[in-house]
Amino acid sequence: MIHLHGTQAVAFRVLIVDIDPIERVVLARCVEMLGWGADTADCLSEAIDKFSIRPHDVVVIDFGLGQRDNRHLLRHLHRVHADPSVIFVAREAEDRRADSLQSARDFDLRVAGTLTRPIDPYRLHALLLSNPLRPRPGDRATTIYPSARELDQALRDNEIHTEYQPKTYLATGEIVGVEALARWYSPTLGVVSPHQFVPVAEQSGLIGRLTFRVLEDAIVACRQWREMRPDCSVAVNLSPRVLADPGLLPRIESLLDQNRVPPGALIAEVTETALIANLPTATEALTRLSLKGVRVSIDGFGSGYSSIASLLRMPFAELKIDRSFIGVCRTDPEAWRLVRATVALARALGMNVVAEGIETEDISDRLRDVGCDIGQGWYFGRPMQGDAMLRYLTPKGRNPLTPGPVGLVMASAPRRMVREPSSKADLAPAGAVRTERDAKADVPWELQS
Ligand code: C2E
Ligand code: MG
Repeated sequence: MIHLHGTQAVAFRVLIVDIDPIERVVLARCVEMLGWGADTADCLSEAIDKFSIRPHDVVVIDFGLGQRDNRHLLRHLHRVHADPSVIFVAREAEDRRADSLQSARDFDLRVAGTLTRPIDPYRLHALLLSNPLRPRPGDRATTIYPSARELDQALRDNEIHTEYQPKTYLATGEIVGVEALARWYSPTLGVVSPHQFVPVAEQSGLIGRLTFRVLEDAIVACRQWREMRPDCSVAVNLSPRVLADPGLLPRIESLLDQNRVPPGALIAEVTETALIANLPTATEALTRLSLKGVRVSIDGFGSGYSSIASLLRMPFAELKIDRSFIGVCRTDPEAWRLVRATVALARALGMNVVAEGIETEDISDRLRDVGCDIGQGWYFGRPMQGDAMLRYLTPKGRNPLTPGPVGLVMASAPRRMVREPSSKADLAPAGAVRTERDAKADVPWELQS
């Protein structure tokens, strides 16, 4: 199948290296059901042969291949400079085989994560679509791969909290709302990115607890913000598993009631992956939410499989254009065409359209000029703690001439996590004009995507 990734239509292929004939076929079927091409190999030499015929985008390797062959295969992938991402398959949830992960690091390979049998198609899909970072010296395996037990304990110990990123009207510069994003600062693992722990939460059944934690934080915070800015909304990301939970709607209703926040102030963001993972359940849950007045937003539009049909079928009030298109829209004519067409489509369907990942003033201006309503991105403000957001929402906090919270994103995080300002952008006042060069000079915070 042809998958639209970035701006290029490419046929993605996955190589599955698994010694078990049945497991091999099961995995290949799962991959094909998700719309990807699959090749299989049962040993090291067959894997190397298949990979030399056609380099694959993702290589899935069963730990059962054995430590020696595993390392040989990883070395081969490194040598041929094909840069696939790697997914490991384990028999048990706690099996994270430090030796294989260490080999992947030694050979500078990008590891998306570990799957556990029986294969969970949600997790497989999330790992296939992820674009993992290259490991850096000093990374610990556990930082990249939290286990379900570690995540469970982190939820008990309140290590997971919520940060907020502003969404801004491009035409006026006013803040229209905020997106709530889960954060995990672990005393033992360090900073763990949502790209790592959200899939683990989904796979392990902890996603409900994680989501309700974020929902509660977000609604309580929103009540405070609305005292200052009565039209402020808050958006929360909902995973497919959470949409299938019959307790979702009553829980949301009671949180909104308790905090006297109207349903229209809450935006439920769902990704295209969430939709295709279980279309009937997702449609029902989203319809119920929107009948209660909660607004529904399609997140990361363009990076997955949404069709116009699904946009028409679902009660979407908002469409968020994936940041992979926004970042390159000045230099990539195809991306720019896609962005303009998406803005026109969303407007024609009566939806608000949000551009994610705006890092510079000129991109913000370009988007405003083609009719994009709202922008979100580092140019307007990085994710920040709730109290920093409260200051940001005050008229003084947003005055471009007054130092604002853009550089204070981590101000109230635990001391060891505080990022030293590493660039001009970090020190820039809120709303200050940033140029393309400033954006390039940014040293990205290690796990900030
Ligand atoms: P998302 O919902 O698309 O969230 C936006 C992501 O873009 C955030 O990454 C944010 O930090 C990043 N971002 C915003 N502006 C810029 C920019 O200008 N440049 C760049 N390079 N990045 C920018 P983050 O916080 O790492 O979250 C990643 C993803 O994890 C989120 O993507 C969302 O899908 C998921 N996630 C985060 N919190 C939750 C949660 O509470 N529940 C669920 N189910 N998923 C969550
Ligand atoms: Mg989102």
